[in-house]
Amino acid sequence: MSQVAEDADASASVAAEAWRVLFRSGLAMAPFQIELGGEDLVAPRMHQDLVAVLRLVGGADLSIARLYEGHVNAIALVRRYGTATQLERLARDVADGSLAGVWGADDATGLWAEDIGGSWQLKGRKILASGAGFVTRPLVTARTDAGQVMLLPRLEAGERADVSGWTAQGMRSTATGSVDFSGMVLDAEQVLGSPGDFMRQPHFSGGAWRFCAVHLGAAERLVDLLREHLVSRGRDGDPYQQQRIAQCVAATTTASFWIADAARRLSDETADPIATVAFVNLTRMVTERAALDVLEAVHRGIGLAAFVRPHPVERIARDLSTYLRQPVPDLAMADAARAILASPRATASLWSTDEG
Ligand SMILES: Cc1cc2nc3c(=O)[nH]c(=O)nc-3n(C[C@H](O)[C@H](O)[C@H](O)COP(=O)(O)OP(=O)(O)OC[C@H]3O[C@@H](n4cnc5c(N)ncnc54)[C@H](O)[C@@H]3O)c2cc1C
Repeated sequence: MSQVAEDADASASVAAEAWRVLFRSGLAMAPFQIELGGEDLVAPRMHQDLVAVLRLVGGADLSIARLYEGHVNAIALVRRYGTATQLERLARDVADGSLAGVWGADDATGLWAEDIGGSWQLKGRKILASGAGFVTRPLVTARTDAGQVMLLPRLEAGERADVSGWTAQGMRSTATGSVDFSGMVLDAEQVLGSPGDFMRQPHFSGGAWRFCAVHLGAAERLVDLLREHLVSRGRDGDPYQQQRIAQCVAATTTASFWIADAARRLSDETADPIATVAFVNLTRMVTERAALDVLEAVHRGIGLAAFVRPHPVERIARDLSTYLRQPVPDLAMADAARAILASPRATASLWSTDEG
């Protein structure tokens, strides 16, 4: 998959071959229940399998991992809030080759849905939509007079998409762009759940552990590339380089413990949702710090070669630096701090699952 990633980056297009591999491997259907043809990958009992899959795909190709994480998130939301018919229809479309995704980001105006007597008329667009023109079963958020709703439009490949503005340094092959829904009319069956469900906690903020797992996979791949470089150049006996390796592995291992525990907590229906969200917000902070430390160490440890194409570190570092930019990191950290300050628990028992 890594060779495909290199070609897709050069052409700034979604790696269609990598998608075919994901479909053939069963990963595209995996989030659905077994009776719908999946592997139940987003079921609470499977949380460590999902960590492993996201980490693995992140290590192979961050752009594909971004698309896959959105696909998984969309299916998880339809499983949580959808009707049996909505879920079966989505499973049928994915089995036929459709890709799902979650498009939440808005421009200043946002996407509006107006009730026109049982149907919904759309006006506006989504921005920063990964897989624009490629994802045909997106889950999109829209504003209504009753609050924010989730919609399940169906698109044809290429329909309404504009990726001309996606000139980012990294994550080039995610086809991240805008999709204009103006004029589209949806029926009631294409409205998912109730107003406000999308941002319901702990899943809205808590689901952030998934992108952390993807980031971790890429950071671990960078550490492997540094190790290979040092050994193949006979530079592995140098104490400064050894210190870098030790610090990198300590950082990624720390992040892996946080991510595994964050996934476990979110899968535990009995856990305190405030503590779960705080824990995942800190997991974001820990994972971002670990990835930034790895990026610096790998650049300094390899040197100039790491900045020259087609060295794999050049592309992976560009992708990871870009993908690390996630929404409101300061707020996530501050929310966690506020929850900790408001807690009556001692620091040593902050994350204990015992009562009191
Ligand atoms: C490759 C890629 C693919 C993506 N795909 C999708 C997708 O498919 N669907 C989707 O919905 N989104 C997608 N996104 C968008 C993503 O979810 C975030 O919206 C985006 O990455 C936010 O990045 P930002 O740095 O602009 O965030 P910001 O939240 O603007 O953060 C930038 C900085 O400003 C600070 N800040 C934020 N708000 C304030 C404030 N009010 N006052 C002061 N400081 C503030 C933050 O703490 C941070 O330091 C994608 C992003 C990337 C990089």
